[in-house]
Amino acid sequence: MASDEFDIIRRHFNRSELAFAVPAVPLAIGDDCALLRPSPGCELAVSMDMLVEGVHFLADCDPFQLGQRTLLVNLSDLAAMGARPLCFTLALSLPRSDAPWLARFSAGLARVAAQHHCPLVGGDLTASAPTVAGRVGPLCLCVQVHGEVPAGAALRRSGARVGDVICVTGSLGDAAAGLHILRDGAWPELATPLRERLLQAFHAPQSRVATGMALRGLASAAIDLSDGLASDLGHILQASGVGARVELDELPLSEALCAAVPPEQRPGLALGGGDDYELCFTVPPQQLQAVQARLAALGTPVSRIGEIVAGSGVQWRRAGVPTALKVRGYNHFDGGGAPT
Ligand code: ADP
Ligand code: MG
Repeated sequence: MASDEFDIIRRHFNRSELAFAVPAVPLAIGDDCALLRPSPGCELAVSMDMLVEGVHFLADCDPFQLGQRTLLVNLSDLAAMGARPLCFTLALSLPRSDAPWLARFSAGLARVAAQHHCPLVGGDLTASAPTVAGRVGPLCLCVQVHGEVPAGAALRRSGARVGDVICVTGSLGDAAAGLHILRDGAWPELATPLRERLLQAFHAPQSRVATGMALRGLASAAIDLSDGLASDLGHILQASGVGARVELDELPLSEALCAAVPPEQRPGLALGGGDDYELCFTVPPQQLQAVQARLAALGTPVSRIGEIVAGSGVQWRRAGVPTALKVRGYNHFDGGGAPT
């Protein structure tokens, strides 16, 4: 990186709003490593997500919103494990050193870091290399989050059992609809407040951290919805060696989505759209009431959408009758789907 590498770190990243002190991090930015001190009896939960310009976000997107979203999608992985966020690290490959852009990006990160008591504790910075065509390579952002969870209490994908109830938090498909608005100018006649809600679902997903922690000891399996329910529920089923029945009429759809999207397009967005970052989890029927009570106390909407059965794959139903449905989530290397 150019000579102002350390200046960029000092001005934009090692700021008190973003790199604030917490007891779990005795040493943060400035040395060769950060030192972490998880609570006694806890395991570390570690996850990394990379966001690449043109693949995960649009080149002209707002840097504040990008900063928020970059950290939120990572925190969502901690939520899915029932882990409490401790801190995060950040690697950047920058096409240019643009101070106003960096200031807004780091302000977006700082907003979410403060909300989740999860400071920045280190990272790396490099200039993007010229590509073969002579252009400078894309902006790449890579965040690694560190969380903690009491030993043995993490919510895994592999714990779903026949008879468990399948639930999802929040509503599905809003972020995918928001991306359609951003990218294609979809539904221009939609009322502004509803449009804003769909856009917000894309820019600032919920990342259900408190909800994930509340599900410890109750849920049998969990995953966060990054690629769409059809694909992500499939991961739980595969890891657990079970199948599922899902009732399409029970999928939680928001008022904004229903106002924007005709009925026949809604399942596609809700099941295959991706980017919702809600939680999908399974729970033994006898624990369902306790789950509903805990989530109600947190103000987290939860919907029961189906049940785990013997076998493999998902049987989609409408009013209890099996229905054929072709949906798939986004997959980077299958040559299909819309990049998000
Ligand atoms: P090293 O060369 O030993 O890997 P660097 O010179 O790259 O260390 O970084 C110096 C310090 O600044 C380290 O503590 C590192 O974690 C931190 N740092 C570097 N880039 C970032 C960044 N993008 N955000 C936060 N901290 C950073
Ligand atoms: Mg070093």
